[in-house]
Amino acid sequence: MANTVKDAILRGRKTVETVVEESRKKVEDVVEGGLDTVETVVEAGLNTVDAVVVKGRRTVESAVSLGRRTVESAILGRSTMQAAVLHGREDVRIEQVPIPKAAAGELIVNVGAALTCGTDLKVFRRGYHARMIVPPALFGHELAGTVVEAGEGVVDFAPGDRVVALNSAPCGKCYFCLHDQENLCDDLLFNNGAYAEFIRIPERIVAKNTIRVPENVPLEHAALTEPLACAVHGFEDSQPRKGDVVAVIGGGPLGLMILHVAALAGYETIALVRHDGQADAARQLGAAHVVQGTSIRKAIQETRALTPNDRGVDIAIEAVGVPEAWQEAVELVRKGGTVNFFGGCARNTHVTLDTNRIHYSDITLRATFHHTPAICRRALALIASGRFQASAFITGRAHLYELNRVFEKLMNRADESEIKTAIVP
Ligand SMILES: [Zn+2]
Ligand SMILES: [Zn+2]
Repeated sequence: MANTVKDAILRGRKTVETVVEESRKKVEDVVEGGLDTVETVVEAGLNTVDAVVVKGRRTVESAVSLGRRTVESAILGRSTMQAAVLHGREDVRIEQVPIPKAAAGELIVNVGAALTCGTDLKVFRRGYHARMIVPPALFGHELAGTVVEAGEGVVDFAPGDRVVALNSAPCGKCYFCLHDQENLCDDLLFNNGAYAEFIRIPERIVAKNTIRVPENVPLEHAALTEPLACAVHGFEDSQPRKGDVVAVIGGGPLGLMILHVAALAGYETIALVRHDGQADAARQLGAAHVVQGTSIRKAIQETRALTPNDRGVDIAIEAVGVPEAWQEAVELVRKGGTVNFFGGCARNTHVTLDTNRIHYSDITLRATFHHTPAICRRALALIASGRFQASAFITGRAHLYELNRVFEKLMNRADESEIKTAIVP
């Protein structure tokens, strides 16, 4: 056993962490079993292992998650990293894959935190994503981390910079990009692979959608930029006017974010949620009212009753992504109100709408998809402002090798107060 750590590191085939994990031994044990090994490791330049032992930290694993330097030094002499690879339905494996190298214009980022997301859960369940991911593929898209390599020609970023790299970037040339609708770009470039030690950021995302993280912002908070950008976009796209009452259907991460964004902007909000945990979170995030229950009929009545003469809310934003909730949203608004179908439903689903109600009540129907580079910057600024309760959205932390368990838990809704889990490699 004593030689394993040294050999593994020198051959670069395994991370120190895997070795420790596999052997179920602490560094302390390894040291006791063979002082020579650690000495040799120290000589090989990985003196952080030594420092860790001296300082009494228990495992290399905790050291890695505690100190960026350790990770950086660990990369020396290593050619592979641990990463989550999606192979199909409910089949994600943590594998050793080559550490990416930065080509011209690209960055390699050491992932500080990658957040679980409803989209990833959908992908885990279905085994693919039509636009984003075809297995076998690296997986995960909400991340922030530290640049470890900058490709030729990159001038805006250098190793050591803390950045959030978005999951996509528009082309800037197509009809939609030229009409201020970059979220609808015909050639949106997606990037996946956040559930890994390192991730390659393609040139276009480096140029358009990689943002420096202010010093006061923890990386796991910065990783919320992507979903928050979607939420900010959805809210702004609903064109709220001063004094509007905004109802948000859905207590998932995006529903709660939209609700929080609306509350922070000073609007009276109504949260329509299912579970107790979601109701608590909605209240904490500024919901003026919470309507909870499973009956859509009742929820509509209760929501309307919160408005003068039951007239309905000014804006209803649907953030569940099922046809029933889309129809519910239409029933919540007043004459002249606005509905935003924010939640994407499964393919080939349809809704039935009361044409008379839409027409004679002058209802505006909108739908908002994705984000734009400008909105992403505003989202990170909101996180950095300290007004946005970032920590309320991160309800768990897990190591990369626990990813399967985390997704299984999310699928079974084992813990209804769970919003997002930060996956730390
Ligand atoms: Zn996401
Ligand atoms: Zn475009």
